[in-house]
Amino acid sequence: MMTHGSFAVPYKVVFCLTMAFLIGCVAAQPVTQPVVSKRAQMHMGTLVTLTVVAPDTSVSEQAMRAGFNEIKRLEQLLSTWRPDTELSLVNAEAGRRAVKVSQETLELVIRSLDMANLTHGGFNIALGPAVQAWNVTERQHVPDDRELQKLKPLVDWTSIQVNRVAQTIFLPRKGMRIDIGGIGKGYAADRAVAEMRRAGAIGGVVALSGDIKTFGMLPEGNGFPVGIQHPRREGELIAIVELKDEAISTAGDYERFFVQDGVRYHHILSPQTLQPVRVCQSVTIIAKEGVVADGLDTGIFVLGPEEGMALVESLPGVEAIIIDAEGTMTVSSGLRDRLRTP
Ligand code: AMP
Ligand code: MG
Repeated sequence: MMTHGSFAVPYKVVFCLTMAFLIGCVAAQPVTQPVVSKRAQMHMGTLVTLTVVAPDTSVSEQAMRAGFNEIKRLEQLLSTWRPDTELSLVNAEAGRRAVKVSQETLELVIRSLDMANLTHGGFNIALGPAVQAWNVTERQHVPDDRELQKLKPLVDWTSIQVNRVAQTIFLPRKGMRIDIGGIGKGYAADRAVAEMRRAGAIGGVVALSGDIKTFGMLPEGNGFPVGIQHPRREGELIAIVELKDEAISTAGDYERFFVQDGVRYHHILSPQTLQPVRVCQSVTIIAKEGVVADGLDTGIFVLGPEEGMALVESLPGVEAIIIDAEGTMTVSSGLRDRLRTP
């Protein structure tokens, strides 16, 4: 039987073997830099770009797939331009019956109504009939104002009936129509981030055009730089901000619009007049959750620079850049030191 004592190894040899083993361990352990990859696809009628920071390419691939699949799933569940989704059924049954929906759809509608409360009705998911009458991207025409005014009784978000117990949504008047275009992309960004994380991503960005959510950081330890678009000079940025575990959303009158007789008609409507809102050129909101950033950008665009910025300053963890109708930029107090010039 061989024991330590019976096998005398010179001290120097032990030292050398130990060092060789240690060096071998270090050498065998590859110095793994996280991989960063980026991919774009069209979903929800917009360009969706995913950036993934992952320990290796196989995790990166899985996270990419998980992110895009989640966005595709939500398009199936929530879109109101496809006839076969839960929300389309709720709209089709307006004035007739309450429709049973998934817990997820119910929660999103409840979050949307919270945003409506927070913005004193500036954000309004009941604007569907007016959004349809304008149909800014498809038909470039100005609807007759008397026709628009007839829609007023149908855009009352306070009349939407949500039953948590029965898990149903009821629109009490025929012709009412939920439109979640003002919040859906922010929600999709939140959900895609959750799925990418679950698939093993350690950082990344989900960008559905101007609705963006970041998580973790870049391999060098920096946050993700996001550029904020100049509302009147296409392709030019007004500022850059670095984000870590934050969402950013911009609502702008330059995103979807047409010009007729020198007047710009765009896609964000006043719940009062049902006309495009004229008090801002763009509103950018930073918040922890995409659903908050997206709901607030639209709602604050409607409230306007003064009331909107007062609301932002009252909300913890929410920051804003508001560009008013004349092009003057106001930045919330917590964001001023974080902006970089492009
Ligand atoms: P966003 O780019 O986030 O401001 O969303 C704009 C979209 O929200 C529009 O295309 C409409 O579908 C919808 N929308 C328009 N006006 C409002 C409003 N006042 N409140 C809620 N959603 C709106
Ligand atoms: Mg929005």
